[in-house]
Amino acid sequence: MAVDHNKKDMDIDNKGEEEQKGKPVMVILVGAPGSGKSTFCERVMGSSLRPWTRICQDTINNGKAGTKPQCLKRAAAALKEGKSVFIDRCNLDKEQRSDFVKLNCGAQVDAHAVVLDLPAKLCISRSIKRTGHEGNLQGGKAAAVVNRMLQKKELPKLNEGFARIVFCHNENDVEATIKAYTALGPLDTLSNGCFGQKNPDAKIQLGIMKFLKKVEAPSNVGSSSDSVQDSAYPQASDANNICCKGTTKDSLLLGVASKEVKERENLAKGSVDADVSVDEITTLAFPSISTADFQFNNETASDIIVEKVEEFVNKLENARLVLVDLTRGSKILSLVRTKAEKRNIDSKKFFTFVGNITQLYSQGGLRCNVIANAANWRLKPGGGGVNAAIFTAAGLALETATKERANSLLPGHAVVVPLPSDSPLYTREGVSHVIHVLGPNMNPQRPNSLNNDYNKGCSILREAYTSLFTGFLSILRSRSKLPRRISEKLALTPLDLKDPSLDPRNHLTNSDQKIKRDDGCVYERSKKCKGANDETVADISAPSSTYGKVTGDKSKLEGPTSKTWGSWAQALYHIAMHPEKHKDELLEVLDDVLVLNDLYPKACKHLLVLARHEGLDGLVDVHQEHLQLLMTMHAVGLKWAEKLLHEDSSMVFRLGYHLAPSMRQLHLHVISQDFNSNHLKNKKHWNSFNTAFFRDSVDVIEEIKNHGKATIKDEDSQLSMELRCHRCRSAHPNIPRLKSHISICQAPFPHALLENGHLVLAPKT
Ligand code: AMP
Repeated sequence: MAVDHNKKDMDIDNKGEEEQKGKPVMVILVGAPGSGKSTFCERVMGSSLRPWTRICQDTINNGKAGTKPQCLKRAAAALKEGKSVFIDRCNLDKEQRSDFVKLNCGAQVDAHAVVLDLPAKLCISRSIKRTGHEGNLQGGKAAAVVNRMLQKKELPKLNEGFARIVFCHNENDVEATIKAYTALGPLDTLSNGCFGQKNPDAKIQLGIMKFLKKVEAPSNVGSSSDSVQDSAYPQASDANNICCKGTTKDSLLLGVASKEVKERENLAKGSVDADVSVDEITTLAFPSISTADFQFNNETASDIIVEKVEEFVNKLENARLVLVDLTRGSKILSLVRTKAEKRNIDSKKFFTFVGNITQLYSQGGLRCNVIANAANWRLKPGGGGVNAAIFTAAGLALETATKERANSLLPGHAVVVPLPSDSPLYTREGVSHVIHVLGPNMNPQRPNSLNNDYNKGCSILREAYTSLFTGFLSILRSRSKLPRRISEKLALTPLDLKDPSLDPRNHLTNSDQKIKRDDGCVYERSKKCKGANDETVADISAPSSTYGKVTGDKSKLEGPTSKTWGSWAQALYHIAMHPEKHKDELLEVLDDVLVLNDLYPKACKHLLVLARHEGLDGLVDVHQEHLQLLMTMHAVGLKWAEKLLHEDSSMVFRLGYHLAPSMRQLHLHVISQDFNSNHLKNKKHWNSFNTAFFRDSVDVIEEIKNHGKATIKDEDSQLSMELRCHRCRSAHPNIPRLKSHISICQAPFPHALLENGHLVLAPKT
């Protein structure tokens, strides 16, 4: 029955063969006398294809009551033979269960608990009425015994060693659970986790329950389908629906999400209004970086993962992070899970999941809109592991989209790549973005090994996770920027996106037009904002164009820095918010940035890379979470500089930001160093590109990475400095004299500029 979809991926870690045999399951029934334990076992064993043994203490001794050690011995023997086992005794407290759980032989066997937590009244009345009970607990004395036992009951928890716990509170739940175990073929496995927990202090996998309801909703159950929708518990139906195939790596959800009883009840009623549907939660699935091929120590890596998750998890509103690995025995998953639990990290926002990162939705039912790739520095397909799997699954579309963003990656860095809608990963799995991340290499067999330098290694691994999570935050932000109608549609899997205008990656679509204007005025670039085309106003030379002054326009716009911007200083902002109205001026439109020619170029080639994010007026608004955006801006700027160098290799480019920009909306200048332009007219123009007023993009990125913000000081004094040649540093009395000098100056650029990638030059031939 099992289809071997994942064989190839599983072979990556050579565990495929082992998994294909399927694992025995030990189901420890937990319930008072009269709760229906024996009936449960008989019903499953009557129709199951899996070999089962029922261990019942009431009959273990040649049909008579026996002891717990006898039960343990018989259970161990049956498991050894590869049989699955029911432990049919009350098992109402942890101690009673623990010896049985230990039989799981270090996860060679799946230990499950099925809790028949039916109303006491029902158990008592059944016990009283029954006759011929194996343990002779019937009639009048049953009531007292049941009552006493229930007083002391201790519900099972995952940390006792169970892989799966199902709580049944009524007959429907019991029926559903019987069906699940009956349908469990020899190679099948059931999703792990804790299902149906009622106690508000305990944990319940609500999110998973929701997707299980969808994934597992039986197509062939007919009249019982109502109970599927109405129940909060995983439903058994057709094994294809409920079971994750043993050979396809069961979707083992190891994290648990706590929810209040009320929410559980809402869910039980099939209400989806009570909280956000799990499919609306933007989810980043990421593999552990550097611990496989790059041989980074698991223990240290798990500390860093938990540390970084803890740092970012609170910044996620309706979003979550999922650490994914292929195998159930994954050491890194289990280390991270334990450490995250110890640190009380919100399990709704972070959990671990066993599955193939390229098939999380189709095979595991877990919808992840964003997946991270443990990439190589060349950002090329191939190699092995996650990188090969993701590039193969995403097809050529990912390669092309990656090339548009970057050609290479440094260790510790990440690059966000929107996945084109023709990629199978997009259509089948609903993945809208891939974030390539490069971690440190500790493997001496691989190039650029850090030779066991864990100081460096740890710092690079930290940077890698920071870049990854900030990249994810930037995706979240660009989603929240979209109007509500579009964000709602985004909750749909791309599979459901029939209307291309609703695809967030079709940049020049209606979606942009629907963004609610916050300034209430219609911007017309050439008419209404008189002066907007006047370069003497719309640039550095206008003192009021910087912070703090209004230039007679009533439509005063408050940026996040609460600076005031004149209407003419809003041109770039309007372009960023409404690119569809400026199609002809734009050289490139991407998810996060736009590229355009500077309207008043101060050199032969002068481009602007404009951030599309609302709320980023200038460098002063940039913080740690914008790191990914800065890196994207840099990468795009670099790409354009390289393109222009291809046309004229004698040019030299510099990429940077003005400390105090004249125009609202964060923009990166990509400017050729000839400064040969009639628009360069005064001292402020010159100094804005040739003093510390101009902050190189590479330096800004470093500063944000290290200090979380850019230093902004002395901006005015920089602009009034004497005029000096940017190459030989000679001083000149005025702009015409300076210009005539720079047209002939052939001195090399100062060292500081030649170092650390401040200048972009054509490669030496
Ligand atoms: P900054 O001083 O860093 O804010 O630079 C703003 C840049 O935007 C200047 O180089 C201006 O020449 C340029 N600029 C002003 N208005 C426009 C516009 N409407 N379109 C393109 N570039 C513009």
